Amino acid sequence: MIWFSNNSRTQLHRWLMEQFLGKKLSNNEVVHHKNGITTDNRLENLEVQSRSQHTKNHKTKPFDEVYEKRKCKRCGKEFVAIKRYLRSKWRKTPYIFCGRSCGAKDQWERGSVGRRFKRSNLRSGLTGSDAAL
Ligand SMILES: [Zn+2]
Ligand SMILES: [Zn+2]
Repeated sequence: MIWFSNNSRTQLHRWLMEQFLGKKLSNNEVVHHKNGITTDNRLENLEVQSRSQHTKNHKTKPFDEVYEKRKCKRCGKEFVAIKRYLRSKWRKTPYIFCGRSCGAKDQWERGSVGRRFKRSNLRSGLTGSDAAL
């Protein structure tokens, strides 16, 4: 269709939506392709969104790309872990607890908290004298 390529501002999917709605779309309205395929201009794939809503939608990634559902090893509760944290090598404690409280309880039982406590005490003592100045 020649007249669309003549004017890059009038895109086919916008024009189609305008025909469907029977009105002109405003500058603040964006026609979104639901399945992400911008050449798929079937009406059921098109949706009118406000410009701000649209940019937001494109920034958010699909859930399983970012998060992974896991079960807490301690209380059995389901929680979401952030995938890129699961992969990081520097992580000392395994990502198997729903939150800090379950992780802390587990560490307490293993007796590793005592050591950590002394170290953090020393550190807070140093910062304390710094703060006094
Ligand atoms: Zn879109
Ligand atoms: Zn838990």
